[in-house]
Amino acid sequence: MVEFADIVRKVEASRPGEDLTLLRRAYEFSLAEHRTQKRLSGEPFVSHPLEVANVLAEMKLDVVCLAGGMLHDVVEDTPTTIERVRQEFGPEVARIVEGVTKISRIEFSSSEEQQAENFRKMLLAMVEDIRVVLVKLADRLHNMRTLEALPSEKRLRVARETMDIYAPIAHRLGMGKMRGELEDLAFRHLDPEAFEEVKKAVESRRKLSEEFLHEVRAEVEAKMKQLGIPARVEGRIKRLYSIYNKLQRQKISIDQVYDLLALRIVTDTVKNSYSALGIIHNTWRPVPGRIKDFIAIPRPNLYQSLHTSVIGPHGQPFEVQIRTEEMHRTAEEGIAAHWKYKDGRRLAQQDEERFAWLRQLVEWQQEMRDPGDFLSTLRIDLYPEEVYTFTPKGKVIVLPRDGTPIDFAYAIHTEVGNHCVGAKVNGRIVRLNSKLKNGDIVEIVTKADHQPSRDWLGWVRTSRARDKIKHWINLAQRRQALEIGRKLIEKEARKYGVTLKRVSEVDFQRVAREYGATQVDDLYAGIGYGKFAARQVLANLAPAAKIEVEKGSKLTSAVKRVLGISRDPAIEVHGHDDLMVYRAKCCNPIRGEEVIGYITRGKGIAVHSKNCANVQNLLYDAERRIEVLWAGPKYSLYPVALTLVTEDRQGMLADVTSAISGVNSNIQNIEARTGDNRALIDVTLDIVDVAHLEKIVSQLKKIEGVYQVERVTRS
Ligand code: MN
Repeated sequence: MVEFADIVRKVEASRPGEDLTLLRRAYEFSLAEHRTQKRLSGEPFVSHPLEVANVLAEMKLDVVCLAGGMLHDVVEDTPTTIERVRQEFGPEVARIVEGVTKISRIEFSSSEEQQAENFRKMLLAMVEDIRVVLVKLADRLHNMRTLEALPSEKRLRVARETMDIYAPIAHRLGMGKMRGELEDLAFRHLDPEAFEEVKKAVESRRKLSEEFLHEVRAEVEAKMKQLGIPARVEGRIKRLYSIYNKLQRQKISIDQVYDLLALRIVTDTVKNSYSALGIIHNTWRPVPGRIKDFIAIPRPNLYQSLHTSVIGPHGQPFEVQIRTEEMHRTAEEGIAAHWKYKDGRRLAQQDEERFAWLRQLVEWQQEMRDPGDFLSTLRIDLYPEEVYTFTPKGKVIVLPRDGTPIDFAYAIHTEVGNHCVGAKVNGRIVRLNSKLKNGDIVEIVTKADHQPSRDWLGWVRTSRARDKIKHWINLAQRRQALEIGRKLIEKEARKYGVTLKRVSEVDFQRVAREYGATQVDDLYAGIGYGKFAARQVLANLAPAAKIEVEKGSKLTSAVKRVLGISRDPAIEVHGHDDLMVYRAKCCNPIRGEEVIGYITRGKGIAVHSKNCANVQNLLYDAERRIEVLWAGPKYSLYPVALTLVTEDRQGMLADVTSAISGVNSNIQNIEARTGDNRALIDVTLDIVDVAHLEKIVSQLKKIEGVYQVERVTRS
């Protein structure tokens, strides 16, 4: 069992001069809090936090991190609260303990690869402080080392989780040593037979292998010395799980594994790394296609090294890895190797950025096979912002940042979305437009007769939810229009004594085609939307009935009434007589202004001024644009709102009203506000057309003390 003194020695060696008070207090606190507890192995519980802190000390991490490791189980396993930890040890240690506690409570629940990936990403997305992950990995490592004590079912679950979630995270953080040990430990429990088999195969070759490595190592050392290149040379036998994977993937025998044995040369500079490669290739014959330059092109987890395979003295192939001291540390400890504090408190900015960058790479990496693809994503998608949430059963649902419970509901199932009435997040009822956060457990409440609302469109972030809501609204509108259309035509038929049942299906289809509808239902819907007049359609269906058809019949207004659509008689739609038209409220166009029509869904045609910002920015969709014109010299009045900025003087309002009546316009409403020696006058007038408006504006501007006259539009 590790003693506290062992940890102190390690910290003193790696971080001389560091104040150890915090760490000592954390140890004493942990000892006191866990004093009555024992591990399943029978050891006192405190041995676990001690081992965890020891792993962290071996990674040369700072005392805050080690204190976090020492205290990582006190909130989970003792009555101590996180507030208490914060009071006693400060916000940084508390944040680490809180983060580890949060992660530990998440139970990984599926071995489906996509779900595993989501879990990994979620864990990384959840942590604000990378030390949380480092402590969690150290915790997991010690638990794996002592896994025998657990009942077999739990043992398997923990081993599976380690293999699927934690070892890959260690890998992505570049922690080769941690990953290797976690994998081998998990392998041993998950597939004991395969483990024993590979182990036996390696053991039976171990003596030969070690002699061989010793021999080539001596040779390399001698040559390096001769040429004056400083180098540390190590031999290593490949890790068991790594060997097993290779055997499985490539369907080869253990003797065909090129990198079963590897020689590692650690030198001082990049230049000497390449020189060493030259020496190796001069000494032994390189295997073609096995040279990899990860110095020039580092792996996404920052791993750098030169790799080559050569045929050794007795025809034995082996791998040689060459790198600098710094690259070696990165390869073994990954992110932990970069974990340096400037003043023992704050993480160096560069390292923070490196991790942010690393985390991005981590997320991209798994999707990318092709490095070209990888680079193009690197440019385009610099900040993939996602939120990882859970169903109550533990399935991870990935949403875009700011995703809402509605997005979540539609991500589960369209029906869940369509009938969702409420949501609980972490057991609490929340509004449907609240923003979800990483790690939120979301429960959707549904009601069979509930329907999506148009408001939802403004709340959702996923295109899936948006499309489904739009689809539902369109369908509902179409159902409504179809129903109205059918009723209208039945009403007309009764009026003219036409028996619709006698009209043949063929005639229905013919008329539908004449109206450009592909099926009879579309014809009804067209009537319901107000696109076709019911009486006109009926006349075509039953030509013998001699139905009198007039333009703009009363029936069309029935449609307007039902659907709430008005038709402005002053506007004509090019080539159509009976489309519903209304002036858009945002720009409120008046006669004489250049206008364009925009086909809305289910509300007819909105007529906008050509320079309305909405048309230009939002609504511009060539397919939905339609040409509209002001109708002949029909006379109608439009309300137009103006705002005047004037001098604040007596009689101003009277001057304004008389100027307006002087050009034959009615005032619907007028209001004045004063302040700061100025007056603001809001007036709404009846206007005939643009010329009329221009005349009024110019008259108003002539009044003494009127500084500004502006037409009010809403956009
Ligand atoms: Mn633990």
